[in-house]
Amino acid sequence: MRDAAPTTIYLKDYTPFGFTVDDVHLTFDLSPNATRVTSRITFSPNPDAADHTFFLHGEELKLIRASIDGQPVLPNVTDKGLTCDVPNAPFVWEAEVEVDPAGNTALEGLYMSNGMYCTQCEAEGFRKITYYPDRPDVMSTFTVRINGTEKVMLSNGNPTDQGDGFAEWHDPWPKPAYLFALVAGDLINHPDRFTTKSGKDVELNIWVRPGDEGKCAFGMEALKKSMTWDEDVYGREYDLDVFNIVAVDDFNMGAMENKGLNIFNSSCVLASPETSTDDNFERIEAIIAHEYFHNWTGNRITCRDWFQLCLKEGLTVFRDAQFTADMRSEPVKRIRDVIDLRGRQFPEDNGPLSHPVRPESFVEINNFYTATVYEKGAELIGMLKTLVGDEAYAKALDLYFDRHDGDAATIEDWLQVFADATGRDLSQFKRWYSQAGTPRVAVSEDYSEGTYTLTLKQSTPATPGQDTKQPQVIPVAVGLLGPNGDEVAETRILELTEAEQTFTFDGLAAKPTPSILRGFSAPVILEHDTSSAQRAFLLSHDTDPFNRWDAGRSLARETLLTMITDGAAPSGAYLDGVQAVLRDDTLDPAYRALMLGLPGQSELAAALHDGGTTPDPQAIWSATETLRQAQAQHMQDLLPRLHGEAQVSAPYLPDADQSGRRALGSATLSLITRLDGGALAAAEYAKADNMTLQLSALGCLIRAGKGEAELQAFYDQWKDDRLVIDKWFGLQVSLADPEHTATVAQTLTQHADFNWKNPNRFRAVFGALAMNHAGFHHASGTAYELLAEWLIQLDPVNPQTTARMCSAFQTWRRYDEGRQTLIGAQLDRIAATPQLSRDVTEMITRIRGA
Ligand SMILES: [Zn+2]
Repeated sequence: MRDAAPTTIYLKDYTPFGFTVDDVHLTFDLSPNATRVTSRITFSPNPDAADHTFFLHGEELKLIRASIDGQPVLPNVTDKGLTCDVPNAPFVWEAEVEVDPAGNTALEGLYMSNGMYCTQCEAEGFRKITYYPDRPDVMSTFTVRINGTEKVMLSNGNPTDQGDGFAEWHDPWPKPAYLFALVAGDLINHPDRFTTKSGKDVELNIWVRPGDEGKCAFGMEALKKSMTWDEDVYGREYDLDVFNIVAVDDFNMGAMENKGLNIFNSSCVLASPETSTDDNFERIEAIIAHEYFHNWTGNRITCRDWFQLCLKEGLTVFRDAQFTADMRSEPVKRIRDVIDLRGRQFPEDNGPLSHPVRPESFVEINNFYTATVYEKGAELIGMLKTLVGDEAYAKALDLYFDRHDGDAATIEDWLQVFADATGRDLSQFKRWYSQAGTPRVAVSEDYSEGTYTLTLKQSTPATPGQDTKQPQVIPVAVGLLGPNGDEVAETRILELTEAEQTFTFDGLAAKPTPSILRGFSAPVILEHDTSSAQRAFLLSHDTDPFNRWDAGRSLARETLLTMITDGAAPSGAYLDGVQAVLRDDTLDPAYRALMLGLPGQSELAAALHDGGTTPDPQAIWSATETLRQAQAQHMQDLLPRLHGEAQVSAPYLPDADQSGRRALGSATLSLITRLDGGALAAAEYAKADNMTLQLSALGCLIRAGKGEAELQAFYDQWKDDRLVIDKWFGLQVSLADPEHTATVAQTLTQHADFNWKNPNRFRAVFGALAMNHAGFHHASGTAYELLAEWLIQLDPVNPQTTARMCSAFQTWRRYDEGRQTLIGAQLDRIAATPQLSRDVTEMITRIRGA
């Protein structure tokens, strides 16, 4: 669907739909190019609505016939939907439409993937299936009949009947159309059962293509763990007789929480030790949990409109993070989440795409499935919990489920629940939902006669459409350490509510060292002028594992920045401090592996830009390489021992213990490769019996400029496994040296297996290109040009994936004039493409900052 003039939709314009839907009956007659969809829907005038215009959304549909109460009608049809005169009383609407699933490459609505029918309706895909009020506040029960020759035909809810050539499903829980799903194909299942706390027996299935049945066991275990956890921690039980998960190869997102029928990108559910890394396993466990948790936070309580997307996503991301922390290691999970937040959300919040967690307008809602809505949205829930305490949080959540079960709710409803459960005024907290940008918290301190004073000053930079900001409620967790490293004041939550505020700590025998923002208690940037000695002190003594790690991180950042700007040598305080932590074998190997990580190059570019220096991507890359080499040399005596300790002799398990050791093994192997030229990595590649070890050794060899034979061997071994071949594509681009990154990517696009219409494969190459900071920002501009060329090619086929990939350009204003000119030219080129989609038009307009 193309728009001549995309329209902007505003939160303030919300009005309820003029009708309620009492029930929906759908019949699908499946056919690849001409599927018939017959709908029978009972509408009643909505007494809460002022406007009773009967408008049904519908796009790319061929209307065959329509009737009201059995009488044929001729509605007024446009490319957006239809209007029709209707009675001022309840009536039955019937329509028959034809759609083309095989021709649907946008992967929205009903489409085909490898001969299998599937759907994706969030946010506004149902309108490509039939005419309907496609908005989340219109909820109804659905009865679905599928006529077809496929072996397996699934929809939402419970199965009610099936026979030769048909299957019938009924979903008793009223739901919005975005939760509708249908799957039909030659699938086989990995079955299991689960008994809920109250004794309800539930049938569980993971449906996959033949050949993938050996990769379902882990996902099934993750599902059962999620079901138990949600009962234990949130008191939420499953509410249907069957829960189906289907793996699909062509999918724009990670997974979708359709009621009773979750549809997953196969990369987010299929797992085996031979083909999946430890990180894949952890991600799969988290995504299965996330989609399952949506059954309550998203499905039973849904969103009134798409501006409230963070209501379901922020809360559900927060819940899945709690789950992972419980299943694995809490500090490790927190650190990884903050790395991700700083790597993806902070650049968004500090650039032209910046928007509030609850946006106030959009052109294309698909462009707002962002790190800000999801990850910052989850941080907001975490802050609320910190502010009210664990007990009050649990009480508020119980009230939320009691009060809003069956509702299409808003952020106002959510905050009111907390206000009612705790008696707290949350009007200032609400600014977190409406003000964009990452707050800065500047710290100054004073000590005299036993009293330590901490002054915190908050400010948030201007963001598009928001020049001035008001102070937010920022929970700052602070502990104090004495001169010998003992904790002299336990963690206390300081509530920063004003622009500037002072907090005092009494009865201290000596000037303490503060540990500020423990556990990363708020998504802010801390501005604290401390000495390297003070950071090194926290790195060796802080009792808060997050801040201890962050002290190492900030030392690394500081040394890299002075290496880049002043040509300084790598800091001894950093090298010694990290080595001391690595030597401590009482610490979790996963935690020690994280200690060896360095800030991302894009994060360094942002820090330079914030400090008034134009970042030079090549200089950032060189400094990072130099520091890595210095670290390898500095630790050369320790590395073999650490690497040896990290070896796992037991049979492979993707659990926290083993994967932590493999993470340390991989981090140390990467440093050892800098000393031995790849000898150990080649030996480990040769004997690797799981994907984690195989990929880690291969990565080391590529980084060392070797591994050509191994890359070929890897391809030959895995050429029939599409998910592993995605890794093969991605690795080569993400690890290419900056001089050759664009060439490597360009060459791979010529490979016979580069199926660019598959979103996973497209992202494997171009996501990796955008992530290779120095390669993407090579001064020649060839990578910019290559990406733009492919975005232009993909847009008519799949606008959603194209639009998301445009964000690779979002930080362009950080760089020098030369690079800005090069990127600007590519943005202009994309913008000038005839028939550009609404999705991409909006993204490019925002990035250009028009
Ligand atoms: Zn979600």
